[in-house]
Amino acid sequence: MNFDQLRKEMVERQLRARGLSDERILKVMEKVPRHLFVEESLRHRAYDDCALPIGEGQTISQPYMVAMMTEVLAPAPDSRVLEVGTGSGYQAAVLAELVSEVYTIERNPALSRRAEEILKNLGYSNVHLFTGDGSLGLPEHAPFDRIIITAASPDVPEPLKAQLADGGLLVAPVGGRFSQQVVRLEKRGTDFRERYFTPCVFVPLIGKYGWDENEI
Ligand code: SAH
Repeated sequence: MNFDQLRKEMVERQLRARGLSDERILKVMEKVPRHLFVEESLRHRAYDDCALPIGEGQTISQPYMVAMMTEVLAPAPDSRVLEVGTGSGYQAAVLAELVSEVYTIERNPALSRRAEEILKNLGYSNVHLFTGDGSLGLPEHAPFDRIIITAASPDVPEPLKAQLADGGLLVAPVGGRFSQQVVRLEKRGTDFRERYFTPCVFVPLIGKYGWDENEI
């Protein structure tokens, strides 16, 4: 399979055609080998317009959702970013191409280990992986210029708002268990400006400031 060609088509048909226009991000989407973040039997579908299973009941997000949320996050080259929900590690790789440091936390140790292996093999040395409840953030590495949550939560967890730098941006799918909307918070002192983007469906954020495991 010609993955380079599939990736080019993905960028044109799924991203550019739907209005994404940040050339830096589009170039990264054309570069990062998404097929290496899914298991071998699913590689032929890696550039399809959908989320895919990555085991443990979790998914790698649809390419459009990854690119769109990255655009909304407006990463700067010197940004220190926190990602909650490492999953396959794909979103972390996309961010690693765009910013100086990526901190990513995953509650499932098996997924975190697999992501670490893939990211290491691809040479991403600016991604720092952690295992635990990401709804608590990583206070010892805060503040973060950007925070992206890639699992759905009823509200933006308070610890993550606290760990955002002044002037920083946080992007998250917020809403009910089965449908959410991408929200961006901009921190201004003690104030948060909110902007709403596209509707979406993510797997749940399970943790102290997300959903209770027994509710799922
Ligand atoms: N960003 C990922 C997709 C994430 S799917 C990618 O690019 O592949 C959401 C992930 O969030 C799942 O792997 C799930 O295990 C994880 N997750 C759910 N609740 C979490 C929590 N409280 N802290 C950290 N990770 C969590």
